Amino acid sequence: MSAPSPVPVPDRVVVHPGPALLAGLESGPWLPAHRARFGPLPDVSLDDLLDRVARVGVAGRGGAAFPFATKLATAARGRRPVVVVNLAEGEPASAKDTALALTRPHLVLDGAVATARALRAREVHVVLPGERPRTSVAVLRALDERRDPVRVRVHTASPTFVAGQARAVLELMAGRPDLPVTAWQPEAVAGHAGRPTLLSNAETWAHVAHLLLAGDPLRAGLGTTAEPGTTLLTISREGALPEVREVAHGTPWRDVLADVPDRPAAALVGGFHGTWASWDHLERMRVSRAAMRAEGMPLGAGIVHVPAPTTCPLALTADVLAYLADQSARRCGPCLNGLPALAAEVRGLVAGRDGTRRVERLAALVDGRGACAHPDGTVRLVRSALAVLGDEVEAHRSGQCATRSLREVTW
Ligand code: SF4
Repeated sequence: MSAPSPVPVPDRVVVHPGPALLAGLESGPWLPAHRARFGPLPDVSLDDLLDRVARVGVAGRGGAAFPFATKLATAARGRRPVVVVNLAEGEPASAKDTALALTRPHLVLDGAVATARALRAREVHVVLPGERPRTSVAVLRALDERRDPVRVRVHTASPTFVAGQARAVLELMAGRPDLPVTAWQPEAVAGHAGRPTLLSNAETWAHVAHLLLAGDPLRAGLGTTAEPGTTLLTISREGALPEVREVAHGTPWRDVLADVPDRPAAALVGGFHGTWASWDHLERMRVSRAAMRAEGMPLGAGIVHVPAPTTCPLALTADVLAYLADQSARRCGPCLNGLPALAAEVRGLVAGRDGTRRVERLAALVDGRGACAHPDGTVRLVRSALAVLGDEVEAHRSGQCATRSLREVTW
């Protein structure tokens, strides 16, 4: 039996009004309201677009934070480039692209269409998440409203964790099972049908569009000189709908998390491929990709998962690992053998085994050895659990975990 996601995949989400992408939500997601707010989509040259996205440092918001300008410049050097809007979030704890699809679909599509025009690309591919039907319907409805001068092709990804990975998306577009595969060149060099492919997630495209339609976010006082603008965050809590908030870079986490009741000792930052962070540590930080990376808690796709007070974070880690082990493409050794073994060892810690050394050894064997980043992200989660949840590990070993009796432990 396959392991379910310990966090349900959200197709409904609470979206809070924000200062840029999520401003004016009350006018609705429709095209006339969008055009009334922002005006017509300007025609920008490639040089102008490159200059603008480089100046404000637009970066990928799917997790890797790769500079958009670098991908754009690379794709522009090849012949017949292709543009891809990736709405397959994959990560169950993330709801930000769902939030954009439901409230700001035309911002996402404008970013891709303006870039396609600048690149003289004739095709825009839109990849929908198979496990989030309301998201898909919202995007299809928005596409129906538009008459863009590009050919739009729609694909639906499988409801799996790895389906949003760039190479898995390209496999889907080629008509093959959407699983990650080994790639020898970046997709911006050789992607769909061997053509340069500019693939970004929904939030990245929305930032590109907002920059073109509303101007430099720093001039609007949003963000810091090092990290201009805003970012979308998903605050995921057990037993509650996920909340998506747009905050300026530099905002204290204490402010972002001010409404969270029942603060736990630790939260999962960055999602299932993220890291555990003590609540106190997180509250001392600001929303900054650079600063958080330096502190060993990369923001990834902007997720903070807050366990319920009755949930043991170690048991939750074991559940996430079982899910991640199950979600691999089972093509590479680290995934096929390593992740299930690692999941079993962490389940052993929950059951009270003295096995941290074995967990560390297995993590070292898996790390950096897959064809994609799935094993590495899983190892990051495990290592952070050992580092931050030491008290819980010890409590389980001595049979004194206060929350243990509240969850069924099987392994
Ligand atoms: S590392 Fe895992 S998920 Fe990635 S390509 Fe290999 S088998 Fe697939």
